Amino acid sequence: MAHAILSPSSAERWIHCPPSAVINAEAPQKDTVYTREGTLAHAVCELKGRRKFLALSTRSYNAELKKLKADALWQDEMDGYTDAWIEALEEIAGEYDVLPHVALEVRVDFSEYVPDGFGTADCLMIGEIAGVTTLNVIDFKYGKGVPVSAEENPQMMLYALGALLDYSQIYDIEAVRMTIVQPRIRSEPDGWGLDANTLLAWANVVVEPAARLAIHGGGEFQEGDWCRFCAIRGSCRARATANLAAAAMEFRLPPELSDSEVGEALALGQRLKTWLSDVEEYALGACLDGREIDGWKAVEGRSQRQWSDAGAAFEAAKAAGVPEEMLYERKPVTLAGLEKIMGKKPFAEALGGYVTTPPGKPTLVKADDRRPAITGHITAKDDFEEE
Ligand code: SF4
Repeated sequence: MAHAILSPSSAERWIHCPPSAVINAEAPQKDTVYTREGTLAHAVCELKGRRKFLALSTRSYNAELKKLKADALWQDEMDGYTDAWIEALEEIAGEYDVLPHVALEVRVDFSEYVPDGFGTADCLMIGEIAGVTTLNVIDFKYGKGVPVSAEENPQMMLYALGALLDYSQIYDIEAVRMTIVQPRIRSEPDGWGLDANTLLAWANVVVEPAARLAIHGGGEFQEGDWCRFCAIRGSCRARATANLAAAAMEFRLPPELSDSEVGEALALGQRLKTWLSDVEEYALGACLDGREIDGWKAVEGRSQRQWSDAGAAFEAAKAAGVPEEMLYERKPVTLAGLEKIMGKKPFAEALGGYVTTPPGKPTLVKADDRRPAITGHITAKDDFEEE
């Protein structure tokens, strides 16, 4: 698959830190098991989407699905997660006044604003919702590390911009909605919307000037959350300078920190922790490559004993007089495990009544987290309800 230097998936980074674009384009691309797993899951999503919306015959569907299932990276849970994608698409399509135009794995071109700017959107829908011509951009993410928000997400906004331009001869799109389906870590899709004129204003004011600098390696280095996927995140001088300057923050008197200073310290610590782990990863790689990092070396970490041949070991244990029933433990399958076995819908229908969700352990998160804040204080209302 061709990759543009200024790709939508790295837009957050090159918009904020334009010189990172050329640096990353020159770095070797890593093809990990996770990226290959994601590619396979996307292929399944596309296939299921074609069957649902583009009249793919059952015979072709079964034949193509069989091929995908033969991939070494196939896991049965992929079936359930890709079904969640189809459920999300059905729900979005159902919001339209009549069945919308649906396009899957569609190339979108925003080179009017970004040199060689193009990308592939997982799904686009266009039609009228309550009489307003609305574009929906829907993206599937198979990752289960960090939840990705649709709100002001530059990757999604660039897909939407490309679609807006590509379809401008056919549709007069007024409203744009963006949805991210990330079923492995979020039970509900995450959505956000804006009007088409606001999207175009963003393209003019933010995207186009950043792209003009980024394509030639110009502009200022600027560190931030977007460093997370940068090829030089562990060795970048601008990032190190910014983090070390932040670490030197001076707390003000009196002897105890104020609550607002505690907040600052937590945010700073989190930022330094992320940076330090990237520097460690970089240094370990350098040591393993045979380079010298002053004062550090790579060694073998702790390891746990394991059977070289579990079957033969158990036979030997039986021969040594250990009763067979003592060799195995019988454990109930977990709730999530049973849901995977049965599939989401049948599970909910048959067992939904037995599922409860107790309150989670109090956890400290950033103030912009979408979950409502909790407090240990009993309010007058709680007090009243308890009586
Ligand atoms: S690590 Fe450096 S080059 Fe990469 S995005 Fe951050 S500041 Fe820019």
